[in-house]
Amino acid sequence: MADGSARPQAYYDEIKQKFAEERDLRLAYRPEGTGQYTSDLTGALAAYTIDPHTEEIPPRAPIDDEVEVLFIGGGFSALLTAARLRERGVQSIRIVERGADVGGTWYWNRYPGAACDVPSYDYLPLLDEMGYVPSRFYAKGPEIFAHCQAIARRYDLYELAVFGTTITSTTWDDRAKRWRIGTDRGDRMTAKFVICANGTLSKPKLSKIQGMERFRGKAFHSSRWDYDYTGEDLGKLADKVVGIIGTGASAVQAIPRLGAAAKELYVFQRTPSGIDIRGDRPTDPEWAAGLPPGWQQARRMKHIRGRPEDIARAAELAKLSREEKIRRQENANIDHMMRIHARIDEIVEDKATADALKPWYMFMCKRPCFDDDYLPTFNRPNVHLVDTRGRGISEISEEGLIFEDRTYPLDLLIYATGFEVQKTGIYNEIRGRDGREINETYADGIRTLFGVHTSGYPNFFIMGGYQASFQFNLTFMLQTQGDHIAECIKMARDGGYEEIDVSPETEEWWVQEVIAHRGKTSRNADCTPGYYNFEGEFNRRQDGNYNGGFFQYYTHMQAIRGELAKHFNCA
Ligand code: NDP
Repeated sequence: MADGSARPQAYYDEIKQKFAEERDLRLAYRPEGTGQYTSDLTGALAAYTIDPHTEEIPPRAPIDDEVEVLFIGGGFSALLTAARLRERGVQSIRIVERGADVGGTWYWNRYPGAACDVPSYDYLPLLDEMGYVPSRFYAKGPEIFAHCQAIARRYDLYELAVFGTTITSTTWDDRAKRWRIGTDRGDRMTAKFVICANGTLSKPKLSKIQGMERFRGKAFHSSRWDYDYTGEDLGKLADKVVGIIGTGASAVQAIPRLGAAAKELYVFQRTPSGIDIRGDRPTDPEWAAGLPPGWQQARRMKHIRGRPEDIARAAELAKLSREEKIRRQENANIDHMMRIHARIDEIVEDKATADALKPWYMFMCKRPCFDDDYLPTFNRPNVHLVDTRGRGISEISEEGLIFEDRTYPLDLLIYATGFEVQKTGIYNEIRGRDGREINETYADGIRTLFGVHTSGYPNFFIMGGYQASFQFNLTFMLQTQGDHIAECIKMARDGGYEEIDVSPETEEWWVQEVIAHRGKTSRNADCTPGYYNFEGEFNRRQDGNYNGGFFQYYTHMQAIRGELAKHFNCA
């Protein structure tokens, strides 16, 4: 074939047809879109948000003071931005965090097998600054959490931090040119700059399942793992029947450990994940010892610019018509997914189970997973795949889960059902100029510059939200935003400005950039539903990522900062 495909187009068209049928099936079963989930974990569901990692946080007197920079949330967004602020001489920095420590995702997610799917040398931020080389190619959860704590110590971020505290209101005081922050602990904090750093996937969500309050066994969400119940080494599960709902990235990591420990394990699957080779390995000490100063930043810049072969490939593709480009990309995606299928056939012994584990959607419609233990787990006699064929579990009794008139009695039920996707990483009420709540501002679609600044919300920065560039390595994107935000704050300080607020014109330019680059991405309407495409609610024109490329995103940021006073109202 002229485009390098080994097979006739009819082969690809047939598979695409099957992808479409599978997607339609899922959409028909769950037409409620994101409404099929709840993250309102109050009342009968309140136990699902309890922090199992920490004893009750002791009461403290309410705080009534002013800081220069306040972070909502204490995960990587806050840590890496705060480090850059310290480098620029900012002294007064407070992290306000709901958990009992910094770490965010890595504070909460301690399920067995938790690890990052991105090479640790790229994922763990500030490695040059910390003089640290991760111990493995893919770092495990405890090492990442420890790295978060080390950053907080190194940059004195514990000093003013408050934990076990949830911000309830963030209001701009236009006369004082300050943000007023209220919390669930009765605090009345004031800050000149506020950085919304609470993550976009941090609020656990549960699939709404009829009868979920009735279940009499033990149940928890994957991000609230109760080791008192399971035992640190899962040893207490030896006589337990365990069920897990979901087969996303969290479940894929937990299932091999559960399979090895539980008496019986039932995996309730709606849509399979694509499982690729992991090939984890310890860091070669010789390689680590030979790393020159600034090695991580050099790696990062290489990624930002892109690999020469990718640039050459993109240049080749650019010469083609849009239709031809899409056709070739889709065919390559299908080849990739068929390799994933072949790997399942090689590893999973039972044919029906192997077939049920095969994902029928384009590469990147769902987050790809990398694991060498997941597929072999289904060869264990105590592990049972309950494939709901796109339906999902919709009923629970006092004993356990019900699917197709059969009840599966369980001692323990784990919801690995993911996290609510925040439009902007915002939970609490945020009122900008004229008391306007940010969700009102976004009523007809998100409006930002770079996903970071919104006009009418001066000295306010959002991290990790939409209208930012898509990045598989999230910390890479967060570091780019963090560098930008720290530099903006420095420029405001150097200019003696009390406020900086993006102009409506520049904001509108970015909204149009986001729309112009929406194009046809792999996470669009052709995809099977999932959190990547708002469970199939694809009509959100500008409420998505910027798809113009990471290098463009980075370059635009630099250019705008070069003319700050032109693009921001600075006063
Ligand atoms: P996901 O949202 O990815 O997965 C939720 C799972 O629950 C899906 O398999 C979903 O099925 C399933 N589900 C929901 N409702 C039902 C139901 N009623 N019956 C049966 N199944 C149901 O959540 P995760 O916690 O796995 O991942 C959350 C985020 O964390 C992702 O961004 C992930 O990439 C990230 N993560 C990253 C890691 C890393 O290495 N960097 C490791 C672990 C997680 P369906 O697919 O049909 O919707």
